[in-house]
Amino acid sequence: MTAPPETIPGKAALLGIRYDASSSFQQGPAEAPTRIREALWSPAGNPWTEAGVDLGAGLLCDEGDLTPEPGDQGRREIEAAVDRILTAGRAPLVLGGDHSVTYPVVRAVRRHYPQLSVLHFDAHPDLYDSFEGDPFSHACPFARVMEEGLADRLVQVGVRTMNPHQREQAGRYRVEVLEMKDWRDDVRPSFDTPVYLSFDLDVLEPGLAPGVSHREPGGLTVRQALRVIQSFEGRLIGADLVEFNPLRDPSGLTASVAAKIVKELAARLLTEPSC
Ligand code: MN
Ligand code: MN
Repeated sequence: MTAPPETIPGKAALLGIRYDASSSFQQGPAEAPTRIREALWSPAGNPWTEAGVDLGAGLLCDEGDLTPEPGDQGRREIEAAVDRILTAGRAPLVLGGDHSVTYPVVRAVRRHYPQLSVLHFDAHPDLYDSFEGDPFSHACPFARVMEEGLADRLVQVGVRTMNPHQREQAGRYRVEVLEMKDWRDDVRPSFDTPVYLSFDLDVLEPGLAPGVSHREPGGLTVRQALRVIQSFEGRLIGADLVEFNPLRDPSGLTASVAAKIVKELAARLLTEPSC
């Protein structure tokens, strides 16, 4: 039997962001943090991660939920909350919310990490310069991240909705897009800078995780996604899971998938060496 990995209690902190006002199609993700926590601590499961970390042992802090107003003020609140977590020496594990929250989160992360790469799981590139007149839409966060120079590299996994505008944006910002049509099971991204991971639940095959607003067939299995999370080369320093829509998840299946991803992200955050 292998020894459990070394962990640093309190090294990672959950933060819920109850926000879905920047969703272009359907509201619902504001309820996601509550549903994910329920699934995470459900007596139907157990708190051990696949990496052998016992999340029931008080290793993970919980900073509760933010309910930001739409607009600049709300984005400032998100940024300030993540900054407080990082200043306390903890790694943020953000529960969205729609994908627009990632831009203010990464702004805060970048202040603490002068070198930073972003590993982005999504069916969509989210690189629109503006969507339906809103540059802060959930279809735009990575255009904002890249134009502000908040990431040295952006690597996207699972994309299957490219269009000419977003392909042009990807070229402009030198985004490394691993499109789903070119998927291979040995994909193992590698980074020599700290890594922030943003996980849009719609990267998964919608039959496996139907509780999302934009169901796009042809996605990753849960296992394929976990494999990348568990095996990419580099140091994970923060993460989010976004776009879970509980209004489209009457069975609770998608909540359990979201909780599983959160557990394995937490395990990796808690076991990364701290320098
Ligand atoms: Mn997205
Ligand atoms: Mn998406």
